[in-house]
Amino acid sequence: MINQIILAFLLSGLVAALAYWRGSLAPSGAAGALVVGTIIFGFGGWSWGVLLALFFISSSLLSHYKEREKQAVAEKFDKGHRRDLGQVLANGGAGAIIAVFHGFFPSPLWLPLFLGTMATVTADTWATELGTLSQRQPRLITTGQVVPVGTSGGISPFGTAVSFIGGLLIGLAAGLMSQNNIVALSIIGGIGGLAGSLCDSFLGATVQQIFHCAVCDKETEKSFHCGQPTRPLRGWGWMNNDMVNFLSSIFGGGTAVLVYSLLVA
Ligand SMILES: [Zn+2]
Repeated sequence: MINQIILAFLLSGLVAALAYWRGSLAPSGAAGALVVGTIIFGFGGWSWGVLLALFFISSSLLSHYKEREKQAVAEKFDKGHRRDLGQVLANGGAGAIIAVFHGFFPSPLWLPLFLGTMATVTADTWATELGTLSQRQPRLITTGQVVPVGTSGGISPFGTAVSFIGGLLIGLAAGLMSQNNIVALSIIGGIGGLAGSLCDSFLGATVQQIFHCAVCDKETEKSFHCGQPTRPLRGWGWMNNDMVNFLSSIFGGGTAVLVYSLLVA
């Protein structure tokens, strides 16, 4: 296992350095990616490392896709392109914890749990990056009220379909690598990713901390907007966007375990 952890450290360092150089990661995010990558690949093995890499590479590519069209709504999101430590842990933190448990207490349930978290963060990033390009106005997941594009808790049929497909592809990759239960693992990834993504929207519509910017009179996830501090509008103080992503990934993982126990175990 020591050799694998050293190899994981070197490969993760290479990927983190490349991502930093490309402007996808802030310095703190690169350090976080090095730790998360080393743990997931080191304790989970090649196939877990590949799932993490699939999430990371697809998200980085999609964040640059149709960049200009997305810029108008981008200011509404909490942070820019350069992912920081909080965002890296929000997306990969649960997976890293699961990988450590997998390394010390082997069980067939760690794979679907890990798969569900990776499916969720992939589904959620894809839906955010592509869903904002949808022509139709999103609706709040709680009340169905039509809300502006980029509003926390807003969902659209297109974004929801993208979530399912993002999770499905992560599940398909897991199935192809294990050469076992390929269809089941694809479905588990799709449902896990969709459930986690909907959990993210639900928390976004209910308890996530939302601020109001007095300068542009808009709701935002940022504590700083238009060059000025914003005022808390609703939600819990500790429930920022990173916390919402982290908790949703665990929800997606739990759902994946449930579907796994119905389809496979
Ligand atoms: Zn503003």
